[in-house]
Amino acid sequence: MARIEIRNLRKEFGDFTAVQSSSFTIEDGEFFMLLGPSGCGKTTTLRMMAGLELPTSGEVFIDHEEVSRKRASQRDIAFVFQMFALYPHMSVRKNISYPLVSQGASRAQVKKKVAEVSGILGIENILDRPVGGLSGGDRQRVALGRAIVREPKAFFMDEPLGALDAEFREHMAHELRNLHDRMGATTVYVTHDQLEAMQMGDKIVVMNHGVVEQFGVPQDIYDWPATMFVADFIGSPSMNFLRFESVLGVGATAVNLNGTTMKVPELFEGAEGKLALGVRPEHIRLDDASPYRGEVTATEYLGTTQIVSLETPNGTMKARLSAADPVVVGERVGLTLDSRTLTVFDAETGRALV
Ligand code: ATP
Repeated sequence: MARIEIRNLRKEFGDFTAVQSSSFTIEDGEFFMLLGPSGCGKTTTLRMMAGLELPTSGEVFIDHEEVSRKRASQRDIAFVFQMFALYPHMSVRKNISYPLVSQGASRAQVKKKVAEVSGILGIENILDRPVGGLSGGDRQRVALGRAIVREPKAFFMDEPLGALDAEFREHMAHELRNLHDRMGATTVYVTHDQLEAMQMGDKIVVMNHGVVEQFGVPQDIYDWPATMFVADFIGSPSMNFLRFESVLGVGATAVNLNGTTMKVPELFEGAEGKLALGVRPEHIRLDDASPYRGEVTATEYLGTTQIVSLETPNGTMKARLSAADPVVVGERVGLTLDSRTLTVFDAETGRALV
């Protein structure tokens, strides 16, 4: 197992800064997600941690030892990429044995480890089949087998499930997480899929344009987004932003949002200028008595819940309501926002105020 720390890690490609001074620590045994949209610098960050890319500045530590300039092969880690470099003409057994054989392990050691790993992955019955003819999922398992057979200190995975279809992807995500829980090795996992990050990760780093926007456990990131970018990127449908302006304390605007239940003065104390109130879709409720009203413009039925689009005095909102709530397109409804779960952002800097 390994503790991995990066300090002020930065990468420039010519004039372009792909990663701006990033710092965070991955504790021993954590399943750690690097999350963000395409091009935000997550792969570059992973490659610097793994020793596949030299940082422009900053340091990488593995178990308190500085390894910033060490090669990947000197870091005792393993990769699982989306495009596995398996040998298609070789059998599953040979593919899995390969890292051990090239390390000079004895036949008996190889036999024992292959039996152990194939047992963990449930692939004992295909050990003698060539990899070329296997399904995507089995190939994924073989790739994992090859990565775990050496018992590295840490695993680095770059979108390992990206090529799989949705149903299988979810199944493999469970398998990967279970595998991690049994083996306990530190895992760093790159994804652009916020749901995958929330479901699988012990901790998440959210990146945007080469900058670490937030770092924490999934629930804190969901409940207390540090920036409007994070609030928007995490959650589906994403957080609603009700924009308004305030000069001194903003009591009036808040009352306008919801006269009865929001503890307005505490919420807005000290907030000035252009603001945005962040509300998760599931924190909006129907309330006939509320003076705050919106018009239903669309509904999307999802079985137990429905996503209802509303036109309000502060713009369009999406609410996740019970499928049993009677809403009709064109109708005006009273709305209550759950005041305990609101986030106020400075709309200019995008940073959360409370
Ligand atoms: P994706 O999911 O699309 O791979 P990412 O978040 O992993 O995105 P990176 O691959 O880290 O992003 O790339 C970050 C930025 O750095 C991108 O704009 C990319 O074009 C650029 N970049 C990456 N590698 C190089 C390189 N070797 N030379 C020049 N620019 C690069």
